[in-house]
Amino acid sequence: MSKEYNLISDFDYRIIAAFFAGLDRQGPGDDAQTRRALSFIDGLPPRPRIADIGCGTGRQTAVLASALDGPVTAVDLLPEMIAGLGARMQKAGLSDKVTGIVGSMDDLPFADNSLDIIWAEGSIYNIGFERGLTEWRRMLKPGGAIAVTECSWLSAKTLPESAFIRDNFPEIDTPSAKIRILENAGYAPLAHFILPATCWTDNYFDPVAARIPGFLEEQGHSPVAVRMAGLMGEEREHYRKYGTYYGYVFYIGLKPEE
Ligand code: SAH
Repeated sequence: MSKEYNLISDFDYRIIAAFFAGLDRQGPGDDAQTRRALSFIDGLPPRPRIADIGCGTGRQTAVLASALDGPVTAVDLLPEMIAGLGARMQKAGLSDKVTGIVGSMDDLPFADNSLDIIWAEGSIYNIGFERGLTEWRRMLKPGGAIAVTECSWLSAKTLPESAFIRDNFPEIDTPSAKIRILENAGYAPLAHFILPATCWTDNYFDPVAARIPGFLEEQGHSPVAVRMAGLMGEEREHYRKYGTYYGYVFYIGLKPEE
């Protein structure tokens, strides 16, 4: 192999899709935490319009669609994710509420002032926290809310400079610094909270580990597949060692009324 594969995102999207579309969720999280984030958003109109950006196969989309009485548009770059979302919504009887579309978060098809809620779990890092908050704001109605998870330091006690953190979480910062970014992007900070460690261990790394043998089999143990599986093992090990320093934080912001 001549190419350097240091990050999951360095791999061909087809192999990424093959691995991750086979998981129940594609990032750390939990239904109860999705509901908790939602609980901070008050004063929704009768039929709120929701966009779920970087939805994956839609674990959190199902929670949103069940809890809210309005249409949800779920967007992901990978067609395999949108196919998985469709199957999940069908099974859950939520197909009439959820529309899945293949598209990119840097070119979203929503009109200005058209959404009551923008949701993005474990995905805004793909465009960048500041850029996503700034560019998506115009699509929210005044009084609308945005809720995203973002990898953050959990306290002022941060890890010393590490190549792993720099490569995997280049924008990592403390919650106070992230909230400053959210404010400067034009939102009122409604709430923020740290996702429990089980969102990573039980809900993410365990299913990832369980998926690896089947994935390697499907890929005929190709060198690229073996390398990708190895990187996932490194991510898990890094979290096991240092997971008290970093994690996902839910940030919920309000676009003020004009
Ligand atoms: N929200 C889901 C998925 C998180 S993984 C969950 O928490 O389980 C991040 C998702 O973002 C992946 O499904 C990936 O395909 C998608 N993604 C990556 N880049 C994207 C882009 N530019 N536009 C839209 N989606 C993107």
